Amino acid sequence: MITQLNQRIFVAGHTGLVGSAIVRALRRQGYNNLLTVPHSHLDLTDQAQVRQLFQREQIDAVYLAAATVGGIHANNSYPAEFIYSNMAIETNVIHEAWRHGTQRLLFLGSSCIYPRLAPQPIPETALMHGALEPTNEPYAIAKIAGIKLCESYNRQYGTRYRSVMPTNLYGPCDSYHNENGHVIPALMRRLHESKLAGANEVAVWGTGEARREFLYVDDLADACLFVMNLSEDRYRGATLPMVSHINVGSGMEVSIARLAQLLAQTVGYGGELVFDASKPDGTPRKLLDVGILNALGWRAEVALERGLRETYHSFLRAEQAGTR
Ligand code: GDP
Repeated sequence: MITQLNQRIFVAGHTGLVGSAIVRALRRQGYNNLLTVPHSHLDLTDQAQVRQLFQREQIDAVYLAAATVGGIHANNSYPAEFIYSNMAIETNVIHEAWRHGTQRLLFLGSSCIYPRLAPQPIPETALMHGALEPTNEPYAIAKIAGIKLCESYNRQYGTRYRSVMPTNLYGPCDSYHNENGHVIPALMRRLHESKLAGANEVAVWGTGEARREFLYVDDLADACLFVMNLSEDRYRGATLPMVSHINVGSGMEVSIARLAQLLAQTVGYGGELVFDASKPDGTPRKLLDVGILNALGWRAEVALERGLRETYHSFLRAEQAGTR
C-alpha cells in the first residue's frame, strides 16, 4: 500500500456523491487520519483559503472529488458556473498541494471529457481527438484542464498526481433535484412522487434511445483507492507515454428507455413512461473502455439492478430523515 493508514488524507468534496463514498471506503480500509472540511468553513474556489488549509495541515495525500456537477439541464443552463468553479477548485488544490509538498493526489474527472462521437467503447487515447458534446463542453474543458494540470506538474515538478475518469455515476448522497440532477436520481424522485400521488404518466427526457454506462459509486470509490495505491511503476507502465489518466467503468450500458423501466420497477411505479423528445438526448453513447484498469486487476462488482435498489433505499432513508 502506497498511502499509509495513519497518513493525513484530505478528501475534498466529502459530502458529495463521490467524496462521501471515498470517505466510506477509506474508513472501511482502516484509514484513521482523514481530513474533511465542511463547505461552510472552506471555499475551494478561494485560493487564499486553500493555501491556508495546506499551510495549517501536513497533508500527505488528496482525493480531489470536489466539483460543481449536475445533469444535462444544469450543465446546459449554468455553463459559466461549471467552467469557472471547476477550474478554480482544480487550480487551487493541485497548485497548493504541490507548493506544500503533498506527495500524492488523485483527480476525479468525467467521461464527458471525450469527443461526442468517440469510438465505443472509448479508450483513454480518444482524449482531444474530436469535438465535445455541446451540452457539457464547459464542464468537460475544466475536467480536461484538471488532467493536464496533474500531467504538467508531474512532468515539471516530479509529483505523482494521478487521474481517473469515471463513467456516469449513481448511488447514495446524490442530488435528487428534479431539473438539475442526473438521470438516475432525478427520475427516481419523479417516479417515487408520481407513485405516491397515484399519477399514471411520468415524463422521461429525450427519445429514450441515448445509451449510458452506469457505475455504482462505491465501486468507483474502491477503484479510486486501488489507483491511488498502485506502485508508480505499474501506474506509469499502464498509462504513459500515451495517456496519463485511467477510465473507470462497469461495462454495463443501457438505453435510457430501459433504465427508466428498471427505475420504475425499483420504485414500484406501475404507470406509463412518456418520452419528451423536446428535451436533449445529449451524447448518443458513452461507454468507456476499461481495458487498462481491468489489466491492472480491478473490476466493478455491483450490478445495475442491485445498485438501483441500494440507491432507492438510501433515498427513502434520506426522505424519512428529511435530509434529501
Ligand atoms: P449526461 O450523461 O451528461 O447526458 O447526463 P444526464 O444524467 O443528465 O442524462 C443522461 C440521459 O438521460 C440524457 O439522454 C437525458 O436526456 C436522459 N434523461 C431522461 N430523463 C432525465 C431526467 O429526468 N433528468 C436528466 N438529467 N436526464 C434525463
